[in-house]
Amino acid sequence: MRRRSIHSLLVCLLLVAVSPSAASEARRASEIDGRYYVSINDAALLLGATKFWKVETRKAVLNVEGTRIRLTVGSPVVVVGDRAFVLTAPVLFRSGMPYVPVELFSDILPQVFQKRIVWNPANKTLSVIRSGMTPVVVSLEPSEELTYVTIESAERIDYSPISLSSESFIILLEDAGVAGTLPAREGGLVKKLELEEGGGRIAVRIRPDSRVVGYVLKRESGPDRIIIGFTSSALRMRALGFTPLGVELPRGMYRVVVLDPGHGGKDMGVRGENGTLEKNLTLQIAREARTILTRAGNLEVFLTRDDDSQQSLESRASRANALQGDIYVSIHCDGYPSSLARGYSIEVFKASGGLQSLSPRHKGGAVTLSSWQRVPEGYTRSSLALASALSGSLGATGLRELSVRKAPVLALEGVDMPSVLVNCGFLTSGEDESILARSSSRSEIAAAIAEGIQNFVRQGMR
Ligand SMILES: [Zn+2]
Repeated sequence: MRRRSIHSLLVCLLLVAVSPSAASEARRASEIDGRYYVSINDAALLLGATKFWKVETRKAVLNVEGTRIRLTVGSPVVVVGDRAFVLTAPVLFRSGMPYVPVELFSDILPQVFQKRIVWNPANKTLSVIRSGMTPVVVSLEPSEELTYVTIESAERIDYSPISLSSESFIILLEDAGVAGTLPAREGGLVKKLELEEGGGRIAVRIRPDSRVVGYVLKRESGPDRIIIGFTSSALRMRALGFTPLGVELPRGMYRVVVLDPGHGGKDMGVRGENGTLEKNLTLQIAREARTILTRAGNLEVFLTRDDDSQQSLESRASRANALQGDIYVSIHCDGYPSSLARGYSIEVFKASGGLQSLSPRHKGGAVTLSSWQRVPEGYTRSSLALASALSGSLGATGLRELSVRKAPVLALEGVDMPSVLVNCGFLTSGEDESILARSSSRSEIAAAIAEGIQNFVRQGMR
């Protein structure tokens, strides 16, 4: 209750502070025959000018700090000081006084005066940005899952959040004026975006859509930016570190899965006798597994690569960590000098010693690992549980079951969550390659990986 009353008091103060001064600093233009005009009175107010208007000669003069602006009704010619400019439309006569096209303010006067007068086509308003105020550009990037309102400025501006509720977001920008065009007033997850200027401040008011579950309010510098983000996806909210808005979802309702299709680009991985490439298989399997997992609705799935690009193991791990993943599955195929080796295996990270991975590509060297690289060791128990869940489901694919083992797996170094590497058969085995070459088998493997992950989640991920 106390919070609510402070909140409404602040909003009232805001309105009072904004309204009176705004009147002298912004003027709304009138639309006449599809063009926008301001009256000579408003022009004088905006410019802080002395106005002379002679009805008989239909001539007007605005005196701005000693410089004269001369206008004649019916003529497009405007003389500013000793320079003549031609407007694209003549000065009009309406309601007993001259009306000037807004382009005089948006295009011509900025060439002559230091004074910054900005035309906002979105709200049809001319506003003066006083010296000492930082112009800001507010833009809206709408989408159904993630909508961002970005406030950009050349210099750092101070801001204070007045309200961050599911009903309204109000952010005050200090010593700021609106520059450029105003954004669309609604879109994506923003039901309404309004800017109120006055008293050297801007109030950014946002009414979030009822689907919004989380938000972020943060500053980025160089160029200076204040970002307000909204999301309707609980999964994404967690992955991006957003703050829940309104009701907080109980933890455990959603999980972030990162699938890592091995190799890519010039790094083709193992090549089978018949030319099957590991990098292509892993990508197809990962994509299909993502499709199946996403359908279930309780998981958000990311791929470390979604094309034939080459990426370092470290960047894959970093990305997964940045996404705050809960489960990491690196997908590979195996290779061995003997074509007799076949079957699938699952590896869990171990810093050194123990069984070496069969494939020389995947084994760790004798180098000393940093604490960052050894991070997966902290998840050994849950990683083994994940491995055993995957091993169980992969048994139905026609590939022979080999083992679940701990190994110094390079592809898992630095991954800060339960993680495994799945070797989906040996491409160096004729039998395995013929299985893997069939798209129906690859779909089965993808489905088995998805099922194993779901089983692990259902077990409570322990
Ligand atoms: Zn591989």
